[in-house]
Amino acid sequence: MAIGTCPKCKKPILPHIACRFCGTYAGRQVLPAKLVEAGKALKKAEKAAAAKHDHDHDHKGHDHPPQKDE
Ligand SMILES: [Zn+2]
Repeated sequence: MAIGTCPKCKKPILPHIACRFCGTYAGRQVLPAKLVEAGKALKKAEKAAAAKHDHDHDHKGHDHPPQKDE
């Protein structure tokens, strides 16, 4: 699999796809900075969600109300 390098931010990017780090494709800004920022935020949210998900799973059996006790 060939991986290109963004001419702007020098990050490894997939060819034929706009750089998701800075929004540049073939040396041109094709994605609005806002969208790139949103992508970053989304990535963060995804990470947070994954962490939360993991946490949630851990808590599921734990969070049961003690109905059995009665
Ligand atoms: Zn870039």
